[in-house]
Amino acid sequence: MTESAVGGPSLPQERRLVTEIPGPGSLERLDRKKAHVADGVGTTLPVFVVAAGGGVLVDVDGNSLIDLGSGIAVTSVGNAAPAVTRNVVEQVQAFTHTCFMVTPYDGYVDVCAALAELTPGDHAKKSALFNSGAEAVENAVKIARVATGRDAVVVFDHAYHGRTNLTMAMTAKNMPYKNGFGPFAGEVYRAPMSYPLRDGLSGEEAAARAIDVIDKQVGAANLACIVIEPIQGEGGFVVPAPGFLPVLAAWARQHDVVFVADEIQSGFCRTGDWFASDHEGVVPDLVTTAKGIAGGLPLAGVTGRADLMDSVHVGGLGGTYGGNPVACAAALGAIEEMKEHDLAARAREIGAIMERRLAELRAEHDVIADVRGRGAMMAIELGKPGTTEPDPVRTGAISAYCHQHGVVTLTCGTWGNVFRFLPPLSISDALLEEAFDVVAEAFATTT
Ligand SMILES: *Cc1c(COP(=O)(O)O)cnc(C)c1O
Repeated sequence: MTESAVGGPSLPQERRLVTEIPGPGSLERLDRKKAHVADGVGTTLPVFVVAAGGGVLVDVDGNSLIDLGSGIAVTSVGNAAPAVTRNVVEQVQAFTHTCFMVTPYDGYVDVCAALAELTPGDHAKKSALFNSGAEAVENAVKIARVATGRDAVVVFDHAYHGRTNLTMAMTAKNMPYKNGFGPFAGEVYRAPMSYPLRDGLSGEEAAARAIDVIDKQVGAANLACIVIEPIQGEGGFVVPAPGFLPVLAAWARQHDVVFVADEIQSGFCRTGDWFASDHEGVVPDLVTTAKGIAGGLPLAGVTGRADLMDSVHVGGLGGTYGGNPVACAAALGAIEEMKEHDLAARAREIGAIMERRLAELRAEHDVIADVRGRGAMMAIELGKPGTTEPDPVRTGAISAYCHQHGVVTLTCGTWGNVFRFLPPLSISDALLEEAFDVVAEAFATTT
């Protein structure tokens, strides 16, 4: 390694390119990856990382890249954030695993108490912890089915809920998530999402359209739960029109249907509040969390109404590693960082900078059909000039330019034509502005 492997906020906060991207050290390692790692495991930007922190990733060749992805909305508190590192080191030295279902420990209970405090609503809540977002979504469905005695699950167009069998059925997009992997779990039904750019409907109109589909094609009496991302992630950062979520939640309550907010990507300060549901005062029955919860360690949760959570028989929820003590220590550190540095407020500041930069860009480039998002979860959708016809080719060209010039950008969307910007909340204003200078150059120099 040519770079010190110490990351965290003390890493020099600069974009620094000393080789092509990827450089010789990364290219050598890509050959090893090709030899040993299944081809199905792709990489967006193939530089091998040795250290990260603040707003940068440093690779084996000594390049320092500006991070606008946070490892897909995971390192919201920054990589190797001090409280996370401290808690993890202390926990690793004490013990690494007992299995909470065999002999319990405080960290698990502390995380559940924090989730009860932070998630929307002040009703009695309980939680169960898991390893991944998909696992949390699966368990939310299990809980809703037991609690209601019903089978059906409603999800939405453009939804992403994971890569396990049930969550593949719940995810909308075929390539790359589902293609060839069926048959999928049954009793999953898809309703139309509110997508203001493409449907032009108000939130209330879009909710009425969705409820009509649910009512006619499923029937409330058969429906265990509605699972929805309050702001969609992989599906394109689709922000439903105001009113859509409250009307759906009210309909669910009226029919004893469990309303599940999948806040795996939008949660934990990302949108400028603790959870995206908070912005419209929506109080879900169950909330799924993962990604930003633990500063990079694998942890996920289902949190919700105590009566629903307790409807499952003893032993019905769990898993060998769920709520691992090191991951719980990391989560407690991450939550400490969020509170101490008011990262929700920081997400709003970052959002204001991104909104300004993206509005400027939109004024200059008619391929930008939409600018949307909330807080530090912003996106632009690209269409053929002046239209909403998706343009994934231009999106790819701009993306490649950013990567070659040291900015980690991510795309998403059903048509692969959306840039999503998810900087760590520990990024400096200067670095963020510089990253968007590169994005602007990318728009100006690609066709
Ligand atoms: C990432 C994601 C998931 C799946 O999480 P994994 O940890 O990758 O299993 C589920 N729902 C949403 C909204 C996500 O963004």
